[in-house]
Amino acid sequence: MRRFATHIRASEGIAIGRAYVVRRERCVEGETQVQWQGNAATECARFRDALMASELQIEAISREEEIFAAHLEMVRDDALREIVEGHIDEGLSAIAAVEVSETEMVAVFEAIDDEYLRERAMDVRDIFARIKANLTGGVCNPFDGVRAGDIVVDTLLLPSDVAMMDFAKVAGVVMGEGGATSHVCIIARSRSCPIIVGLGDVVAQIPHGVQIVVDASAGEVIVEPDEATLGEYRARMEAQCQQRDRDREAARVELRDAEGRKITVRANAGSVEEVRMAIENGADGVGLFRSEFLYMLTDAEPSEIEQAEHYAAAAAACDGRPLTIRTLDVGGDKPLPYMPMPKEENPFLGWRAIRVSLEVRDVFARQLRAILRASVAGNVRVMLPMVTSVEELREAKAFLEQCKQELRAEGVAFDEHLPLGVMIETPAAVFVARSLAAECDFFSIGTNDLTQYVMAADRTNAKVASLCNPRSEAVVEAIRRTLEAAAEAGIECGMCGEFASDEEATALLLDCGLRSFSVGAGVVGRIKRRVAEVV
Ligand code: PEP
Ligand code: MG
Repeated sequence: MRRFATHIRASEGIAIGRAYVVRRERCVEGETQVQWQGNAATECARFRDALMASELQIEAISREEEIFAAHLEMVRDDALREIVEGHIDEGLSAIAAVEVSETEMVAVFEAIDDEYLRERAMDVRDIFARIKANLTGGVCNPFDGVRAGDIVVDTLLLPSDVAMMDFAKVAGVVMGEGGATSHVCIIARSRSCPIIVGLGDVVAQIPHGVQIVVDASAGEVIVEPDEATLGEYRARMEAQCQQRDRDREAARVELRDAEGRKITVRANAGSVEEVRMAIENGADGVGLFRSEFLYMLTDAEPSEIEQAEHYAAAAAACDGRPLTIRTLDVGGDKPLPYMPMPKEENPFLGWRAIRVSLEVRDVFARQLRAILRASVAGNVRVMLPMVTSVEELREAKAFLEQCKQELRAEGVAFDEHLPLGVMIETPAAVFVARSLAAECDFFSIGTNDLTQYVMAADRTNAKVASLCNPRSEAVVEAIRRTLEAAAEAGIECGMCGEFASDEEATALLLDCGLRSFSVGAGVVGRIKRRVAEVV
């Protein structure tokens, strides 16, 4: 049994499961980049995971394309497995054994007289390519081998990786790098998935396939726990489940402050499924719908109609409660594979969010038109990310008006009074909050970015995680000023940054004047309970 710890608290909760170590090495033609691990059992387990992932993928596509039925038969054939495992037993790494087996099997098929059977060599190549990709994290989804209850272990995961992960299966995540407000953490937390970040190089010492415990609240990973330790953690997991049930009950109560003003706890979401989960958990709507996750899930930009359907489904799931759609916030730690972005020295200070939208007008137009179309499906609001000046707001407003005019001319129905809000997540926006408040309908404070920009501390860099702290006097002052500016102008000011999800900050935020929280879908009940305790 070994314990590894990090000082960063990225989430809470406990997970016990098999370590699924993500492989990212890619196969280069003619050579293998994967080093021999020196352990036949580990290599065999890796190969079997890749084989199983391949089988599942082929099974899915064979429903559409008959040709894959033959692939399915081959991949299920014991002979294939035995040949590869035989080579692993001889001392080869999994990838090397797969390559040698491929050469042998292709040679056998190519030597056959019958033309039909000879052509099956192509199918063999295809199957082996898939197995190799699954083994090495190549072209296929590197999480295809994940089994229910696994804990994903990797040096660094990107939001696009996490978008591919099936949270119904993933019990926990362990990462060597990353900060608590990186998007990967935000997504994991919203799925109530315990995550540990900033563990450092020791992640490389966690072998694939062994049992591990993730104690996210303590920032600790226990590799191959003994029976007594396992028993202790199982009991703690059970207690957490009971607490979650109590939080769900607390979420049904309506909250008001001493003056009788309503206090709302909305949720942050990145998908329709998450919106549903949030509403089930008692959320008073969605305070931040991260639209970029839809863009990250596909190989090409989703069409206007696809987007409109997606937003309308989210709006319907809110059942009359507000759905606040944030326009595309790409760049920073969220690149889009199909939208070329120049390589930048400082992506978080570069071309991201509203800066991209105001320049790539056709993409912005499709998104705004889609949001307008969806606005008739519920209580939809639109919100602009990374605003730094009133000029940007005006430009975006004028463009929204142009989109409205086009839709009117086309006879498409939309909400003429679609509320338009601004995220306050740059120091510049705080300084010009009064001017912004005069020209928009609501604010939402994004403490994740606001903290990194106020404190000059990268939110994804584990090294400066202690500086990237929203409790810092400077950040709290920025929050107070923003709330004051909104109150003077008589507009709503919410908070959708992760600080709102921190129950230890609830009293402070209420004291600053915050009355609209937007929190991780998994902690709605807990924050409501905490608000009720404080007011
Ligand atoms: C924020 O910056 O606080 C925020 C909510 O936006 P994101 O985390 O998506 O950048
Ligand atoms: Mg932000």
